[in-house]
Amino acid sequence: SNIAHELRTPLTAMQGEIEGMLDGLISIDRERLVSLHEETNRLKHIIEGIEELSRAQASALELHRKTVSLRPFLLGIQGRFEKMFSDKGVALECECGEAVTMDADPDKLSQIVINLLSNALKATQRGGAVRIKAGMTEVDSFIEITDTGAGISSEDLPFVFERFYRASEGGLGLGLTIARELVEAHGGRIQVKSEYGRGSAFVITIPKFTIYS
Ligand code: ADP
Repeated sequence: SNIAHELRTPLTAMQGEIEGMLDGLISIDRERLVSLHEETNRLKHIIEGIEELSRAQASALELHRKTVSLRPFLLGIQGRFEKMFSDKGVALECECGEAVTMDADPDKLSQIVINLLSNALKATQRGGAVRIKAGMTEVDSFIEITDTGAGISSEDLPFVFERFYRASEGGLGLGLTIARELVEAHGGRIQVKSEYGRGSAFVITIPKFTIYS
């Protein structure tokens, strides 16, 4: 029902506008057409988000897990984000030992990290910092993404992983839902700690392969 709601809202706005044009109450000019075009783009964007979420939900069936060496993997992602961060004046740091590995599907893992990094960048003001830190224990590996950004209020915090839940303007409210689906497909978990006005920390933990002998 929330998918229907997400689609119905922009559709209803478009329908009203087109009806107004047909009835001669709204003039058919370029500005109106540009606004209608933006609405169709938004609908397309929502549908793409829903498709991405369905793929994430199905991904437990097609995971290609391998032992990923996290240092080069995370430095690669850091490199891809470097320009976006420096353009906004936000520092991006990465702390990961040479020997740290994670047993994960690399494509899915990069989607998870990218979703978390994009959120962190969006929430952080110029002069702030985002830090990626990775490590492992005997049984699992973790990646933590911490930011000095806007933080999440305690009213919003319990719901941020729910689909279409937005605590701020813009976005579809699907990035964290997709990240959680992908982490859970690996048998892992995702946790968040946040203080409103001070920043947030998201941690994903994924168990290591169990070796039976
Ligand atoms: P979206 O794709 O719209 O960003 P998400 O599911 O990724 O949606 O996030 C849900 C909500 O959680 C966002 O609307 C945002 O307000 C909040 N949020 C997520 N990550 C952070 C963060 N690092 N700092 C502050 N708020 C965040």
